[in-house]
Amino acid sequence: MIGQERQLQAKRASEERQRRVAQVSQELLSRLERIKLDLAVAPAKRGPEAVVFVGSVHDGHLLLPWDANPNAQQFLQWIGDSRFANKMRQAEHEEMIAGKLDDAVRFYREALGSTSQPAAQAYARLSLARTLRKMGKPKDGYLEYKQVLDSSPDLADEHGIPLALYAAPPLLDAGLQQKEVLALIAAHLNKSERLPPAALYLLRDLAARLAAGDAVGKLTNQIQDREQAEALQRDFSRLLLLTQGQEPVWMAYGEPLWLVSLAPQAGSTNAMAIVVRAREMLTGRDSSLDQVELASGKAGEPLGEHFPGLRATIPAGVEGDDTFRRTFLLIALSLVVTLTLFAGYLLLRDVRRELRLAEMRSQFVSGVSHELKTPLTAIRVFAESMRLDDDMERQTQREYLDSILQESERLGRLVDNVLDFAKIEHGRKSYQIRRISLAEAADAAARIMRYPLEQAGFHLEVVLDRALLPVPADRDAIEQAILNLLNNAIKYSGESREIALRLFGDGGDAVIQVIDHGVGIPREEQARIFERFYRVPSEENQRISGAGLGLTLVEHIVKAHGGSVGVDSNPGEGSTFTIRLPLENKS
Ligand code: ADP
Repeated sequence: MIGQERQLQAKRASEERQRRVAQVSQELLSRLERIKLDLAVAPAKRGPEAVVFVGSVHDGHLLLPWDANPNAQQFLQWIGDSRFANKMRQAEHEEMIAGKLDDAVRFYREALGSTSQPAAQAYARLSLARTLRKMGKPKDGYLEYKQVLDSSPDLADEHGIPLALYAAPPLLDAGLQQKEVLALIAAHLNKSERLPPAALYLLRDLAARLAAGDAVGKLTNQIQDREQAEALQRDFSRLLLLTQGQEPVWMAYGEPLWLVSLAPQAGSTNAMAIVVRAREMLTGRDSSLDQVELASGKAGEPLGEHFPGLRATIPAGVEGDDTFRRTFLLIALSLVVTLTLFAGYLLLRDVRRELRLAEMRSQFVSGVSHELKTPLTAIRVFAESMRLDDDMERQTQREYLDSILQESERLGRLVDNVLDFAKIEHGRKSYQIRRISLAEAADAAARIMRYPLEQAGFHLEVVLDRALLPVPADRDAIEQAILNLLNNAIKYSGESREIALRLFGDGGDAVIQVIDHGVGIPREEQARIFERFYRVPSEENQRISGAGLGLTLVEHIVKAHGGSVGVDSNPGEGSTFTIRLPLENKS
């Protein structure tokens, strides 16, 4: 009798659960489909808050709203207009090659006067302001920056980055226009769904400098959304495989959980993808789903074929009043709470780490693009000047060609570093170990750097113990490590013009040292400079281009050889980087 009663109870409980699952699934589906319908009727509207974004799908590829930059072409046309472009080119020539800043300013002003397009004007003003500051007229420079800051926040460059964002940092550096910059941040916060991630990073940076905590928080959330959206874009073809279920289908994605569905786009053969925040679908005025938890993991009940991969945890109604069961449930509950808290902590730790890495990655992107752009602009300007001037003197020609060579080599080194870094990240970097002479590797590195050193007026003292025995090592890799250290010594030398490169034996080790008398590194930063993408966050450093990869590579190379690298440095006095390599292969 009791057995039968139990069976019946279990059956009833299971039926009740099924019923609730079906109810939740149906309610959720109807809320989601209502959003889809609204968006189909009025696609221009963004829909309710729960909608993260609406993208367009081309050949199975998801186009994010900020990928499409309808004004890019227009902007390129404006700055490519022949009168404007010629003046800008002349100005750049005077600024960068001839060093005649007065003339550069005149040409930038003429470029400014030659166009009626506000975006092109703002673009010219940014260069004009830079030159004015260079020639020791900072106040005139700030006036130009202010004009760009005051221009419409909709003026953007070909990457969709509002031009005003470029004017804000130098003004803040000078302690000016803080209120205006705050207003600019607020204006963008209200309509930022189309801004590319790079613009959000810039905005967050400005907000952080102005200690606008609220804005920093909001921008950080938006940046997280952008990054999850980009991950979704990469995973999109895999996700599409799930759409085979019974229509309509909402796929679960990511953490925080999003629900993604496809819908036809009015007036187009492309589909649109609608991305909605799951959490916000459960709350609201009608609270029937308030207690439901959604997840894409293993916990809970599957929500059926409209929701592939999605599960729900639905609180059961109170059943029976058996004390034993209550105690048991209580214990189980406290266990679950503890485990959840612990899992939450682990997740938080992971998310924080991810966020820090994402932030460093963004700095890396801006660092690398700046490093790529600078030599490329120089190469272009030198080549163009040679092309324009048929009667150029041989001596000048040689100088220009030397500069082009030097800039190409700089680019080559940067590309080498980035490629090697990618190999290391994917565990594909391998070393060709042979017995090599370290003195020869050091000589080769010094030779490569001779020209850039001379150009910048450096004296390099080279003291090498040529009697040192050959060591088992990869010749190219060691040369690259030394080059990276010499390159840094040049970059971070400040006013000093003395650098030394040493090689000597010490016990069972060969020691390579690169010594400079430049800006130095604060003690608390010394451990971190070997981390990938890390750069010492000083104001001085911001003006020096870099990607934060050079030392990461040096450390990787040296460790792969069973050696070590360290730094001894005092701010304002200089730095000594020391590589130690075992003379014998110990492995
Ligand atoms: P990058 O120079 O491209 O930023 P690195 O990985 O080579 O990247 O260096 C990381 C950071 O370490 C630099 O941004 C700089 O702050 C600091 N640093 C490296 N070398 C020196 C040096 N010789 N003097 C002072 N600071 C240095």
